[in-house]
Amino acid sequence: MKTPPIEKQFIAVTIALTVIALALAVSVWWLNGKINTIYSELASLSKETASSTAALQTNINEAHSTLSNAISAAEQNVGSLQGQLGNFQNQVGNISGAVTNLQKLSQLDPELLKKYSKVYFLNENYVPAHLSEIPLAIQYSDVKQMLIRTEVLPYLENMIATASSTGVALYVDSAYRSFDEQKALKSDYQMVYGSGAANSFSANQGYSEHQLGTAVDLITTGLGGQLDSSFDKTAAYQWLVQNAYKYGFTMSYPPDNGYYVYEPWHWRFVGVKLASDLHAEGKYFYQLDQQTLDGYLVTIFD
Ligand SMILES: [Zn+2]
Repeated sequence: MKTPPIEKQFIAVTIALTVIALALAVSVWWLNGKINTIYSELASLSKETASSTAALQTNINEAHSTLSNAISAAEQNVGSLQGQLGNFQNQVGNISGAVTNLQKLSQLDPELLKKYSKVYFLNENYVPAHLSEIPLAIQYSDVKQMLIRTEVLPYLENMIATASSTGVALYVDSAYRSFDEQKALKSDYQMVYGSGAANSFSANQGYSEHQLGTAVDLITTGLGGQLDSSFDKTAAYQWLVQNAYKYGFTMSYPPDNGYYVYEPWHWRFVGVKLASDLHAEGKYFYQLDQQTLDGYLVTIFD
């Protein structure tokens, strides 16, 4: 085969090289464009990511603050509920205390702290629900069995035993008296002294504290069995003035009481609280109004 002349070969190579160079240039341009596109996509992706992250952070912050608010609102609610529960418990406590008091009162004789006078008195059929025998050892006389309201007996026995332990002799001279006994006693007094005098120191039947079963006449040795105002010269009387309130007893008719003559021997059980308050205030039972006295009924045997 015949070889082309050198010029033709040179031209052909130049053309081929030019074509290759053009193809390379086009490829580089195209690649460059692609790379730029990828860069810009990456940049925009990175921007999006950044704004998404920021949005996410904002969302997290918002969620956190919402949650905190919800927690603190819940805590406040719990606090308020606890407060309400406390109030409710107090109310339940108050109600249950009131119910307990009502239950106690329903079992207590409403007459126990009544003031007896010529306008308020016990029915002739009134008899205490429970009476107990007073031990003969503390009765001044054993001729007749004396009775006292059952709930009062332990207080009486305790008082007399304590007095005795300090060398003070105290005995019961009279305790519960029925309407008929009081009536008979009154007519005896009237026969002896005449009705004017009898009215001043012996309660008419029907308003005697003795019919209530909570009053006792106390006596000591050395008086020959006679109860009169000389009882207040005895150690027994002094002991009673200083100590009877601790056992719930109070002197119904102190000097100048406006009801009956002075009866230093006559002591009525009114409960430790009322007797203590009377003692502390230097007052006597009949000085207080009936409403005040009734307020002590619920605690009379406490
Ligand atoms: Zn009496």
